[in-house]
Amino acid sequence: MHEFSIVSGIVERVLEFLETEKVSRVTTVRLAVGEFTFLEAEQMRFCYTAITQETGIEGSVLDVETVPATVTCPHCHYQGRPKYWDDALAFTPMPTLQCPTCGKAAEAAQGHECTIKSIQFVR
Ligand SMILES: [Zn+2]
Repeated sequence: MHEFSIVSGIVERVLEFLETEKVSRVTTVRLAVGEFTFLEAEQMRFCYTAITQETGIEGSVLDVETVPATVTCPHCHYQGRPKYWDDALAFTPMPTLQCPTCGKAAEAAQGHECTIKSIQFVR
């Protein structure tokens, strides 16, 4: 599971923060996750609860904020939302790297990120 290793890395960083900042309790960890990562928020929260058990941040909440994908096309200079691919098996439409105007290969401008946006804590 892709989500599991990503969330493990995030938990490690939050635990480090807890240690270095001498924080007594972390309440919420907010992530900014791009659409091109194809990470599912529900899966991530599930992994987070499992991984944080019996750690210093057990009971804290993982908040996942979706960063919309945008592309730029080197062929027709289109800039904006990508073309979405409706996969019947996916919960949400998947962004593709196909230019919505000319149909050629576009480049991702935004949507590959998976970063900690903020950590809410009690000193
Ligand atoms: Zn184009």
